[in-house]
Amino acid sequence: MREKFVILDGYTDEPAGLGVPPFIDVYPRYIAGAIWSSDPEAKILYYTIDEVRKNFSDFLKISSSSRMVIVIAGVVVPGKYLGGIPITPEELERIGRMLNDTFTVLVGPAARFGMGEIGGKPAIPPQTFKKVYGAVVNGDPEIYVSEYMKYGEEKAEEWIKREDYSDTDKFAITGAKIVRQHPNYGYNLTAEIETYRGCSRWIVGGCSFCIEPLYGKPVARNPLKVVEEVATLYAQGVRSFRIGRQPDIISYGSKDLGRKEVPEPNPEFLESFFMLVRSSAPQANIHVDNANPAVISSYPEKAKRSIEGIIKYHSPGDVLAFGLESADEKVVKLNNLKASPENVIKAVEIVNEVGKAIGNNGLPHILPGINFVLGLPGESSRTYEKNLEFLDELLKRELLVRRINIRKVLVLPNTKLQLIWKESLLERNKYRAKRFTWVVRHKYDPAFLKRVVPPGTILKRAYVEMATNDGISYARQLGSYPLTIELKGFFTPPCILDVRVVGYKGRSVKGIPVSSCLGSNGA
Ligand code: SF4
Repeated sequence: MREKFVILDGYTDEPAGLGVPPFIDVYPRYIAGAIWSSDPEAKILYYTIDEVRKNFSDFLKISSSSRMVIVIAGVVVPGKYLGGIPITPEELERIGRMLNDTFTVLVGPAARFGMGEIGGKPAIPPQTFKKVYGAVVNGDPEIYVSEYMKYGEEKAEEWIKREDYSDTDKFAITGAKIVRQHPNYGYNLTAEIETYRGCSRWIVGGCSFCIEPLYGKPVARNPLKVVEEVATLYAQGVRSFRIGRQPDIISYGSKDLGRKEVPEPNPEFLESFFMLVRSSAPQANIHVDNANPAVISSYPEKAKRSIEGIIKYHSPGDVLAFGLESADEKVVKLNNLKASPENVIKAVEIVNEVGKAIGNNGLPHILPGINFVLGLPGESSRTYEKNLEFLDELLKRELLVRRINIRKVLVLPNTKLQLIWKESLLERNKYRAKRFTWVVRHKYDPAFLKRVVPPGTILKRAYVEMATNDGISYARQLGSYPLTIELKGFFTPPCILDVRVVGYKGRSVKGIPVSSCLGSNGA
């Protein structure tokens, strides 16, 4: 009889990696690959937590008769999501408890670093879940599952980590077909793709709050293996990719990666890499994600050529997300942050210079995104003024910014922040943080949005994701940081529309459809 395995995706959000729908992160794909590499006949059932919420009793019935239930969880950088609601600590505990006769395994950031419930609070430590899960894997889940398949529960070590990508590259290919079970498959499903792990700033200890330096020296994937994975996922029907699982895409392929805090970009490598990615997924949306502004501002010419190389083969509407975190030099210094405000302004100018031309979907090719983290040690009232002055400076210089992210810091175990953070920090600046967020959402977001998508802009192929009872529907294009479009009327997915921008609302735009609904992406 075929053995049965269950993967429950409670969704993940990490500094380098997103797995909230429409995104599917690497975890379920690598884990499925580890199972199928060992037992090609195994039956693997993949559920998202939103599917489980709708039919909990069926999930329990199926799970309790399976050999192993693997739960993926961990929102390390909590935010609000249109595409799904991540598993809560209470759900995690309840599921573990209710399956106490089945071998349950918790993996992902929740098992490795803890569970971020809300920003501005210490995370719930992984040990909390040990009493209800058979294994809490703080190593690499796919390697653990592979060991489990070979040697059984007793011998598989929860802490085991990959030393290189040799097994993971194989699992990525074998497990790719799990995407067919994702509820967004055939529509706006976007596969997160990994190019390397670890931050080049590990040499100097990294930013105080960040978990990435805990991986040690960065280890890069062979670009041809990345391309092979994209080709396999494309053959399985995936039509959107985010080459986002790394702290800085501009450093991928640099000979300095892992050797220097600020690696020198390798534009020739990046152009060839993106050419191969495009040729493996000719009709797909291809976007990137994070970039280190210090790399761009330190090597302006090579960075420009690198971004031009990406633009040749990517899809418009792309974003290079910059972690400014704070525009206060005192906070930058105390938390060992990656870039000064001046560095970030320079990087924003460079990306604007090469990326602001409008592409065929109605959006500029590639623009910077700015991330703020609130609640870091060293903050004062002046920090919040400086953050606003920074945004004013961008407006004054007529620069385009695609989006501004604001998060309250999450204090994770084993980070330097854990040693120096005090709850009073956040309490002291509570009202300033609230006001700052309000001002950004009401003044700066609309100001930047009006520049990026002026009234009348036609946004092509927006995927309706949700219709509310108030007669408002929400749609987004494919991409790394898709812009939310609010539509009057009841449109239900699947429905792909062209939309004209007619207004602005905080971080979203208001639109009216200028085409009729198309039902699927043709996958
Ligand atoms: S630059 Fe800082 S925030 Fe970004 S991955 Fe490295 S340590 Fe983390």
